[in-house]
Amino acid sequence: MPILSDIKAILGGFRITLSHMLRRPVTIQYPEEKRIPYPRYRARIVLTRDPDGGERCVACYLCSAACPVDCISMEAAEQEDGRRYAAWFRINFSRCIFCGLCAEACPTLAIQMTPDYEICKRDIMDLVAEKEDLLIDGCGKDDSYNYYHHAGIAVTQPRGEGLEEAPPVDIRTLMP
Ligand code: SF4
Ligand code: SF4
Repeated sequence: MPILSDIKAILGGFRITLSHMLRRPVTIQYPEEKRIPYPRYRARIVLTRDPDGGERCVACYLCSAACPVDCISMEAAEQEDGRRYAAWFRINFSRCIFCGLCAEACPTLAIQMTPDYEICKRDIMDLVAEKEDLLIDGCGKDDSYNYYHHAGIAVTQPRGEGLEEAPPVDIRTLMP
């Protein structure tokens, strides 16, 4: 009978409504209550330092070249000892899509993504971050890596005696 099928359909709807009323709510009362994202969540970008406090960025432009929306710019400079650094470094967060390609491309681990997602601003010009806004005092996610221990401005050790460097191969041992 049609009336019975109508009642069944109405009761089915009520059953679904009641089952949802008994579930724990998934909404969060932001900003009083803050969600903790996963450690690899990609949000605010920072420039890190190596363990002895030097700036890791060597102004190689790789992050800028990898960025699909072209929102990273900088100017390279050189210290007296030949070590390169960014005289200025700028990220326009109003264009950034937080894809992480810049961090993937960086050979020195200087540029890193953090889980800090609270970066909204009312004025769009406040989303342009300069080097002093980006540079932090710590090493970020890798607190032991120092680029200049692996590829420095002056290599003084004999071959095979660098950090984590394998001894050179004697080519005479490769002869048939
Ligand atoms: S996260 Fe992506 S879009 Fe943002 S600066 Fe890096 S490469 Fe560019
Ligand atoms: S942040 Fe990394 S990839 Fe970008 S210029 Fe500096 S060293 Fe190169």
